[in-house]
Amino acid sequence: MKLIKKASIYAPEYIGEKDVLLAGGKICRIGENLTAPDSWDVEIIDGSGMLLLPGFIDSHVHVLGGGGEGGFANRTPEATLSGLTRYGITTVVGCLGTDGYGRDIDSLIAKIKGLREQGISAYAYTGSYQVPVRTLTGSITRDIMMIDEIIGTGEIAISDHRSSQPTYEEFLRLCADTRLGGILSGKAGIINIHLGDSPRKMDMILKAIEETEIPSTQFLPTHVNRNAALFEEAVEYAKLGGTVDFTGNEDIDYWETVCDEVRVSRGIKRMLDEGISSDLFTISSDGQGSLPLFSADGQFLGIGMGQSSCLLKEVKECVEKENIPLETAIKAITSNPARVLCLYGKGHIKEGFDADLCLMTKDLTIDTVIAKGQIMVKNGEPVVKGLFE
Ligand code: ZN
Repeated sequence: MKLIKKASIYAPEYIGEKDVLLAGGKICRIGENLTAPDSWDVEIIDGSGMLLLPGFIDSHVHVLGGGGEGGFANRTPEATLSGLTRYGITTVVGCLGTDGYGRDIDSLIAKIKGLREQGISAYAYTGSYQVPVRTLTGSITRDIMMIDEIIGTGEIAISDHRSSQPTYEEFLRLCADTRLGGILSGKAGIINIHLGDSPRKMDMILKAIEETEIPSTQFLPTHVNRNAALFEEAVEYAKLGGTVDFTGNEDIDYWETVCDEVRVSRGIKRMLDEGISSDLFTISSDGQGSLPLFSADGQFLGIGMGQSSCLLKEVKECVEKENIPLETAIKAITSNPARVLCLYGKGHIKEGFDADLCLMTKDLTIDTVIAKGQIMVKNGEPVVKGLFE
């Protein structure tokens, strides 16, 4: 059991300075001046002068590592436990990326099981960048229904030169199979769609919503901020009630100048200014994905890698650069992904919910991270690590 005393709580909405009692991996009580009987074994955590936020959810991470563009030597490494928790991530959703050949769904599920055993919450998308997708059981619907870890399909690439150029019918079929899997299992059955740089942008998603019974809530298009034109379409999509996923970026100063990428904080401010609900955006990291860097004249400069650190960095920029209230900005990495992905017990500081928490200083520096009631990070440093870290 743990008792966090006198922290300013953003649940994500601000609920004041309170104490929070954790037991059995859950949030048991939230109140003022909570005490525990002397006979109880309770660890007291002083939260005074600090902010308590729900643990962060990173909904798009290549936990197995990403396929190297430019050759095998560029394959990126697997995600590590502390590489997630040190940045406040207590829930991760893993997916395959461009390379669905050198890495497969069996290894992905094994990795997800490993992260769960190490103490955080982890889920996966079945399928692959390419269509027809690879699955575990031979069927998207069966994977979602029968495999605990699988909550949807993704990332499916469209409008990208690296995609398998799926036809509209192929795309529709996999969306329908995913929706059915979600309905039959009480899961999200979400289709996480990688959007590339092509001018076809979100055409296939918009057509599916218009022509079929599949609602916009079934889709989570990602990388919507990869260029200005795509982002404009994403704004219109959100106006119709669709949720969009921004990809965070640690090197945005480079990407904003050279690649026309829309800075996450600017994009979120724009959406709010357009009157779009603060429920309709999420931020994910594309963690462990490879990021080839080119100069303005097309020279290969080197290769970077997505990291979950960008989630908090983007939230900070929303607050500091765009004056977006903290309680609005953190919805993008807490309550919004929890709702879209139907992750029950996640994304809020609420009695009965999982004890996934981030205790931070007022300038949004991580002090303590708790996952399912266990302290993973203390004084900003991971105290629980994977076996081979
Ligand atoms: Zn992608």
